[in-house]
Amino acid sequence: MPHPQIIIIGAGAAGLVAASELERAGHRPLLLEAEDRVGGRLKTDEVDGFLLDRGFQVLLTEYPEVKRYLDLDALEVKSFRPGGHVHTRQQRFRFADPMREPAQLIRSAVSPIGTWSDKIKLARLGLRLRNKSVEECFRGFTEQRSIDYLWSLGFSEQIVERFFRPFFGGIFLEQELRTPAAMFRFIFKMFGHGSAALPAGGIEAVAKQLAGRLRQTEIRCNTPVAQVREGTVVLADGTTLDAPGGIIIACPPEKLMPQLAGGGVRWKSTSNLYFYSNRRLKENRLINLVSDPTSLINTYAVLDEVAPSYKLTQQGGSLISVTLRETVDRESQIGQAEQDLLRHSRLPNDSLQFLRHYIVRHALPDLHPVAFRQDATHSRVAKGIYLAGDHQLNGSLDAALRSGRLAAEGLLLGGG
Ligand SMILES: Cc1cc2nc3c(=O)[nH]c(=O)nc-3n(C[C@H](O)[C@H](O)[C@H](O)COP(=O)(O)OP(=O)(O)OC[C@H]3O[C@@H](n4cnc5c(N)ncnc54)[C@H](O)[C@@H]3O)c2cc1C
Repeated sequence: MPHPQIIIIGAGAAGLVAASELERAGHRPLLLEAEDRVGGRLKTDEVDGFLLDRGFQVLLTEYPEVKRYLDLDALEVKSFRPGGHVHTRQQRFRFADPMREPAQLIRSAVSPIGTWSDKIKLARLGLRLRNKSVEECFRGFTEQRSIDYLWSLGFSEQIVERFFRPFFGGIFLEQELRTPAAMFRFIFKMFGHGSAALPAGGIEAVAKQLAGRLRQTEIRCNTPVAQVREGTVVLADGTTLDAPGGIIIACPPEKLMPQLAGGGVRWKSTSNLYFYSNRRLKENRLINLVSDPTSLINTYAVLDEVAPSYKLTQQGGSLISVTLRETVDRESQIGQAEQDLLRHSRLPNDSLQFLRHYIVRHALPDLHPVAFRQDATHSRVAKGIYLAGDHQLNGSLDAALRSGRLAAEGLLLGGG
């Protein structure tokens, strides 16, 4: 007896993992995707001989669900070095993570990133979180703002402005650090244990790997869904598909099921610029954090130093990814960002060629509180209908993968 048909809507990380879990249980799901290819927010374009991810995005190798689902060797992930460069208005200096690079202990001790007391607190926080489970990082901290958590730990304004704000502002895609402290603790722990890495084939390689393993799933791209009802999916072209085995909505559900209360997911956006420099820029595989308030730039990184395959040809210069503090859309602002990059990187005036500007409007869900769940009970919204996607838990790839797994587990346990 064939299993009754299950339909998954959305072929991002969450939908792809849901499909693989259903396949493992013997199902042959149908995966419907609105765009022309799978991946959702994990997308990479080939532009003028470079791999350009749509938004600066790193793969944290320590994420529990990354370890569960991804073959990092096959992805040939290349890691950034721990630590970074900080650019203030007057100076630029390097900071290291002495627990990860003991040889850098002296450099860390004298770096003007913060006070002595800050460095001791930083080391203590690292040790404390190292001994906590991921669940413990979340528990009790899902509503407190990250900035309030930092103040409560007694960190100085110096280290908040020079390190925490640009670093976590770049990860959370908001500069206030209003994102719940649970996320701060989780990400801090992940950076402490593992690496921030780039897959050799660009971030989209993650989605390609997940999709490439599916054997029993039918994937239909260019197939937007308009409506979901119990046991039925209505496509944008009016076609009705039966899903007696159940439905997993692995995209924001509010348009598909307007009866779901809550007003929908709010999103954070980002502006990501790419430049090619005809001079080689040496940053030692470190991320650059800009804490100069007069600069439009939040972070920048030389991608081909970390993953040389981001340059598809033998060009001699450097591929630079720049993330701005705010989302911009005027040409003059791109010009200003270019000037800021020249100033911070100390590259000569005529060395930069602008490649592309990605404005990602729906980059991360803006969630309060965030969640980390171990079981599937929450994801069921109606008989046989389950929700997945990072917006169900917290804004991270780990959450997307986890939510896909939990929705599939829920459907398998609860039935259609
Ligand atoms: C710029 C940027 C930087 C990021 N940086 C990091 C980072 O450093 N670390 C980290 O952990 N995470 C990061 N993330 C977040 C991470 O990429 C996401 O959490 C994850 O990719 C989300 O996967 P998802 O499956 O939940 O959603 P999505 O990838 O958004 O997938 C949803 C899919 O559903 C499809 N869809 C939508 N509506 C319909 C419809 N009506 N019918 C059919 N299909 C539909 C969409 O086309 C899409 O393919 C970043 C994201 C961005 C954009």
